[in-house]
Amino acid sequence: MLLGIDLGGTKMLALAVDRAGQVCFRARTPTGRGFGPAATIASIEAVVARTGAEAGPVEAVAVGFPGLVDHGRGLARSSVILDGWCEEALAGELERRLGIPCAVDNDVNTAALYEMECRGARDLLFVAVGTGIGGALVLDGRLHRGAGGFAGEIGHLVIDKAGPVCPCGRRGCVNLYASGTAIEERGGARPPAGELGPVEAAAADALGVAIGSALNLVDVPLVVLGGGVAELGSPYLARVASRARRECFAEIGQACAFEAARGGYEAGARGAAALAGQRLAQGRAGQPRSSASAARAAAYARASRGAADG
Ligand SMILES: [Zn+2]
Repeated sequence: MLLGIDLGGTKMLALAVDRAGQVCFRARTPTGRGFGPAATIASIEAVVARTGAEAGPVEAVAVGFPGLVDHGRGLARSSVILDGWCEEALAGELERRLGIPCAVDNDVNTAALYEMECRGARDLLFVAVGTGIGGALVLDGRLHRGAGGFAGEIGHLVIDKAGPVCPCGRRGCVNLYASGTAIEERGGARPPAGELGPVEAAAADALGVAIGSALNLVDVPLVVLGGGVAELGSPYLARVASRARRECFAEIGQACAFEAARGGYEAGARGAAALAGQRLAQGRAGQPRSSASAARAAAYARASRGAADG
């Protein structure tokens, strides 16, 4: 079993995926702002034990964390929705306690991995529009995290250098015009299905400007929109796409598909399970991977591609 964990502000969702790519076990644990490293590690240990008893032995674990992560060093660095997290060596501590490969990544990154896997895609830009705007870049089948882990942070692309000040300290980030918070502040309300109000349309245009600029830089063939605001539906998606295509080279825009996220609320945990598979393929930190763990990882990879195709 590969265990994927989506750690959130109200719950921790755990999913175990077998070699056939099927979800065999689910567990939900209530969380809250005070859910710190000790509670998280204890809960994950308990879920690993339950999975082992009810579904089968867990071979690797990965956690999608709601905040800043140093994936390479396995650190959960900080979170604005969970207190008590400061440069925590989450992956290393889990490996020490569980004795299996473990990894941690940002929760938007793990959701992007699921969107990649369920489509069999290799290259995509994932944009999650909720309270804020998160993003992730998948290139050649791998997350592109960047030197410091910030790659894909499309919410802080500047679309108006004379605009208002963003919490990040700079002016005119797209986050200030297109996030769920921005829509709310401008008096936007969820319009009837099939329609887009003026506030939502302006937000979609702002996001389209940022995505179009990003496409000129990365030229990926697929943009996936997720998060609560994306639930405005196809008029919203069409408006973002049309504006983005006007803002980038015509050849890039014509070749790029815009799709709604398929993951729903389990995407973060499903993607974390995929990340656990990648971690298993690498072997334990600092140790050469054994041929047995490589073979297990390859079996999971084949199965997940098969499940995604089916
Ligand atoms: Zn900003």
